[in-house]
Amino acid sequence: MKIKKTYSFAFFSSLYISIFTTGTLLLVSYFGFNLKISFWFWFLFIGVIFAFTFIITQYRIEKFIYQRIKKIYDSVSLLDTVDFNKTSITSDIATLSREVEKFAKDKQLQIKNLNKREGYRREFLGNVSHELKTPLFTVQGYLLTLADGAMNDKHFREKYIERANKGVERLIAIVKDLDMISKLESADLNINKEPFDIVNLVKGVYDLLEIKAKKRNITLLFDKQYDYPIMVIGDEERYEQVLTNLIVNSIKYGKIGGSIIVKIESFNKNKILIKIIDDGEGIKEEHKNRIFERFYRVDKSRSRDQGGSGLGLAIVKHIVEAHGEQIFVESEYLKGSTFSFTLEKAEKFYI
Ligand code: ADP
Repeated sequence: MKIKKTYSFAFFSSLYISIFTTGTLLLVSYFGFNLKISFWFWFLFIGVIFAFTFIITQYRIEKFIYQRIKKIYDSVSLLDTVDFNKTSITSDIATLSREVEKFAKDKQLQIKNLNKREGYRREFLGNVSHELKTPLFTVQGYLLTLADGAMNDKHFREKYIERANKGVERLIAIVKDLDMISKLESADLNINKEPFDIVNLVKGVYDLLEIKAKKRNITLLFDKQYDYPIMVIGDEERYEQVLTNLIVNSIKYGKIGGSIIVKIESFNKNKILIKIIDDGEGIKEEHKNRIFERFYRVDKSRSRDQGGSGLGLAIVKHIVEAHGEQIFVESEYLKGSTFSFTLEKAEKFYI
């Protein structure tokens, strides 16, 4: 066991004091008064002096340090009252320096996190304005051309109005995605967990996206015939969004004339895994970890051509994680990608 620093300090101080006083008295009595006092007296005397000074010094040091340290605690606690527990004021310097060090480290970490968040905020604002600028300028361009005279030509009028409208639609899509992401990030989103049939939901999303897929000559398939419902628990509306975003991506970045396959398999005793498999362009290893970030795209111009806001996967990840589930991506560049996510089983059954 380590002896407290204050004890060893008090020990040596009292040792010096008792040796000095006893020595002085011994010399004075011997040489000054020629007294011959027994050895036992001096032994007892030095013992008493030592004990007395040790107790006093120890007590005084503790009191002094305690008062000083309490001041430090109080002033530091002013900054953040929860960080320091007032009842645990210590007079042990080593513990105190450890605590102050920890306190400083925590503060540093807090500052680092705040800076990081500030960086994200700035980047996010920059991205948002950049995203909005492109379609806004497109709309403005067409409107100005119309105002400049193109209005009088029926052919151009229709064409330009149609294009301006496309720009507005794109703006609406971006704003909708932004709205969704801000709701998700402020935890404003209500998740209504209820049992629903995932097979039925995929079929519904397939129906809605059939025309989009046809445009790229892509076939929407299941890996096998699912004759029976597969009941899962979650917010059906949110999962419709998840499936839509993932399947739309598979169409956008899929191979023209290729196919998309949805596969539903057992993940573990309580969960199933939904896989969306495409045979498209795939994702290079270095991008895989980043595609779920807001506004991250592998190929910006290609994504914009396809009408993407760069928020689709960020929204998917948020929804899946808000349910306490996981999302995975496997991909081979130029071969295809598989996005999969887990879902809670509503009842025990075997696929
Ligand atoms: P975007 O609006 O750009 O599609 P997402 O967040 O949905 O935004 O996707 C981010 C990026 O991930 C896309 O720009 C694309 O490069 C890549 N990506 C997403 N899904 C796929 C996929 N199925 N195949 C290949 N790349 C994909």
